[in-house]
Amino acid sequence: MPSVFIKTYGCQMNERDSEAVAAQLVAKGYTLAPTESVADVVLLNTCSVRDMAEQKALGKMATLVGQARKKRPDQILGFMGCMAQSRGQELIDRLPDVDLVIGTQKFHRTADYLDDIFAGRREKVVDVAEEEESEGKIREHILNGNGSQSVTAFVSIMQGCNQYCTFCIVPYTRGEERSRSIDDIESECRELVARGVREITLLGQIVTSYGKRDIPVKDGRSAFVQLLDAVHGIDGLERIRFTSPHPKGYGDDLVEAYARLPKLVESAHIPVQSGSDRMLKAMHRGYTREKFLGIIQKLRRTKPGMGITTDAIVGFPGETEADFEETLSLYREADFDNAFIFRYSKRKDTPAADMPDQLPDEVKEERNQRLLALANDIGAKRYGALVNQRTQILVEGPSKTNAARMMGRTRCGKIVVFDGAARHRGQLMDVNITRVGSFTLYGDPAIFLD
Ligand code: SF4
Repeated sequence: MPSVFIKTYGCQMNERDSEAVAAQLVAKGYTLAPTESVADVVLLNTCSVRDMAEQKALGKMATLVGQARKKRPDQILGFMGCMAQSRGQELIDRLPDVDLVIGTQKFHRTADYLDDIFAGRREKVVDVAEEEESEGKIREHILNGNGSQSVTAFVSIMQGCNQYCTFCIVPYTRGEERSRSIDDIESECRELVARGVREITLLGQIVTSYGKRDIPVKDGRSAFVQLLDAVHGIDGLERIRFTSPHPKGYGDDLVEAYARLPKLVESAHIPVQSGSDRMLKAMHRGYTREKFLGIIQKLRRTKPGMGITTDAIVGFPGETEADFEETLSLYREADFDNAFIFRYSKRKDTPAADMPDQLPDEVKEERNQRLLALANDIGAKRYGALVNQRTQILVEGPSKTNAARMMGRTRCGKIVVFDGAARHRGQLMDVNITRVGSFTLYGDPAIFLD
């Protein structure tokens, strides 16, 4: 059977989609190639959120076509994911050596389309149509990649987004919100736990909107909180996380869930995007600065050790220095543990792309640097405060930067590196934090080594 290499760009949703496609192909008898040069099939799972991500994938494919394919004329090349969805046939018009373009509702068709191409039934495939119930097809997992058992897993609970933030291309590439049933998600989680998984991250573009249209509120609990309750009941599961929520989705039922559900860890990634009400309105975010800070306060009141991270966009059209300073001051008030900061990038067919007062790159860059410096400063203080504290970690495996050491994650989402051994993988253990690096903690092994 042929071998396949999948290269992923973009977010955790894309990584999860790639993993599911790889697992579906393996179930059909494909092998996973260690590098693109030896693969019979190379698929690029693309991202459209920023122009740079699209350009990277286009450049990569041009390289594959121009150089690698000279040596492997029979190699099959394909695009999947968000850019495949938004550009469709245009990708083959631009790069005629590309064989396959698979949209965001068609990942599960990849094996069939490859079969068709290998069997000579079709020469090229472009499929970016909508497909009902495709949200339930991202189910398969590879839990023993690189020869070791995974302790953590991502579970896709929904696809799409109806929020239509004015800068964002996701509602156009991922479509309307479509949620899987609680039973279906719970059964996937049970299977994962039976296979050794200890921590599950529930995934979606806007998870707090999960099931809004299909699952009625019950006992004051939204569909998403009902899902958390169901997953929480799985024996053997130790921890639950989720990403990405929307600030609008932090009702009292969700805040209260942190107090009520011990497996729901004290960690939240809540994208704020801007600290200026004027910008939040122009972005169509649906909350104010005050409302956002109110959520942070409630969460920290419920769980004082809560780790809170965020996303922000600098240089949105019309953003003045005063607007930007509101973002700086919000960062100081919210005291984020970490932040992902992006310079605004025009996306095709989004309302913000046609807004007046687009800002020059130099202004975006300068604000990016200032906010980054502040976020790093705040993050360093919050990480530093954990030194000499005892904290629980779930050991995931060898450290990515030093395979001789092990790494785990705190309940508040921070990485801890320590001198452990392979037998600690999958264990919950207490460590003493001895020092801090750049967004990494180092733990004292004396507490647990025998
Ligand atoms: S809520 Fe998130 S995914 Fe949805 S449109 Fe806004 S930024 Fe995009």
